[in-house]
Amino acid sequence: MAEPTKMTEPHKGPTPKLTTTGGAPWPNNQDSETAGARGPVLLQDYVLLEKLAHQNRERIPERVVHAKGWGAFGTFKVTGDISKYTKAKVLQPGAECEMLARFSTVAGEAGAADHERDVRGFALKFYTEEGNWDLVGNNTPVFFVRDPLKFPDFIHTQKRHPRTNMREPYAQWDFWGQNYEALHQVTILMSDRGLPQDPTRMNGYGSHTYSLWNDAGERFWVKFHWKTQQGHAHYTNDEAAKIIGQTREGYQEALFGKIEKGEFPRWTLQVQIMPEMDADKTPYDPFDLTKVWPHSDYPPIEVGYMELNRNADNYFAQIENAAFSPSNKVPGIGYSPDKMLQARVFSYADAHRYRLGTHYEQLPVNRPKCPVHHYHRDGQMNYDGFVSGNNDAYYEPNSFGGPLEDHGAQEPPLRLEGNAARQKHVQQIDDYTQVRELHDKVLGAEERTRLYANMAGTMVGVPEFILARVFGHLHNISPAYAEGVRKALAEATGQPAPAPEPDLVK
Ligand code: NDP
Repeated sequence: MAEPTKMTEPHKGPTPKLTTTGGAPWPNNQDSETAGARGPVLLQDYVLLEKLAHQNRERIPERVVHAKGWGAFGTFKVTGDISKYTKAKVLQPGAECEMLARFSTVAGEAGAADHERDVRGFALKFYTEEGNWDLVGNNTPVFFVRDPLKFPDFIHTQKRHPRTNMREPYAQWDFWGQNYEALHQVTILMSDRGLPQDPTRMNGYGSHTYSLWNDAGERFWVKFHWKTQQGHAHYTNDEAAKIIGQTREGYQEALFGKIEKGEFPRWTLQVQIMPEMDADKTPYDPFDLTKVWPHSDYPPIEVGYMELNRNADNYFAQIENAAFSPSNKVPGIGYSPDKMLQARVFSYADAHRYRLGTHYEQLPVNRPKCPVHHYHRDGQMNYDGFVSGNNDAYYEPNSFGGPLEDHGAQEPPLRLEGNAARQKHVQQIDDYTQVRELHDKVLGAEERTRLYANMAGTMVGVPEFILARVFGHLHNISPAYAEGVRKALAEATGQPAPAPEPDLVK
């Protein structure tokens, strides 16, 4: 890796010679080729044309979600022992591997301010000896929706209105009130944890239920949690507004600056493990992304830690081009029936094919650090040529020594049952109890007051019938919750807040 540029003094010593992109020496980078000093320019000035054409192509499509991000490289180390649950080499005692992390906001575009209240993406790529393992989560253990069919609609409510071209709180509350499983995530978003001071001061969560499987073919359900070792720290909306007035890049400054100074941030990896058959017994659906597994039921087990200790040398090449996808898993780690996870296995890899191209995994930052052998061929930007390693064995099966299946990587069957149909997730869904636990027991009185004010601040101007629906559900979570937000809204507007929708109140 090249030494980072030192910009404090002019360079002394030899410099490379400028060339065209074709490699030919280039004598003059100051003057276009013109007929006379005034111009016009000649069409044969190919270097001018190429320079302008390249500039037009400097941007790639930004991510539809998680466009604004901050990333760094690091190390993952296993200090605990969960070998009885998984055969994954990356999770065996003492294992160590290189990794990449990218944190992000969800809704803002690539130029958005860092210190906005939003869920933070927490995307990790582990370059393991058995291939890349990506754990692509958020700084929250749950999500807004449990069914991927709702995901594009949900994201539309977070993005700009087609006519006003502004983000519209009415759309967000309209959606959340009609998909009230979202109120668990909304509560976390509007609580202190919705605005971390910088990426190092927040937890990360795999959020989905994944599975682990061992050499004996036993499967266990698993949740991954990354606990910040820097401690949680948050800003209020007012504090963040002041920071945004001074810098829109506060997260980048903090993450890049800490790593440059040698203050390497760390997170402890914990897992919650559920025996396979327990999934039929829990009062909540353990595959529902809007629910947590209570720690008292499945206590967190310490596995190891990750440390971020190297900044990227080229942000575009290594962070913008980084492609994380839950489709990247290694033997010993598997999926679960979680509908959202199943959809992300497709949609994340597909997003990268669109954004970066079919062969995005050939880019250096995405390239596994172990040998890669497959029979995919050709296509734009396939600079690897032919990765089976043998040009005569360009199909499978073949008799000419091409790569063969590795039966040791066969995971145990995933138990699935039920009739195929469009149907409710489960017959009796309780979308209130876990939010009540959070509101009544986890949040302290002062944090609850800030939660109410944060929520009320986003409700100003939202039509009453939309808010009445939301208050109906907040009441069912906890009457004190609905009252707290209604009072804060009344203070913000000077008007009485709408009453909870009577048809909804239980
Ligand atoms: P516990 O008391 O065992 O755990 C509470 C959890 O809440 C801790 O993980 C803590 O994180 C986290 N927490 C503290 N403040 C906030 C906040 N403002 N926003 C979100 N999370 C916060 O309780 P349970 O496991 O029974 O869960 C109770 C509720 O806590 C859940 O319904 C859920 O809303 C929330 N929660 C649960 C998690 C889980 O995996 N069980 C994870 C995170 C939240 P930390 O340890 O980092 O301080």
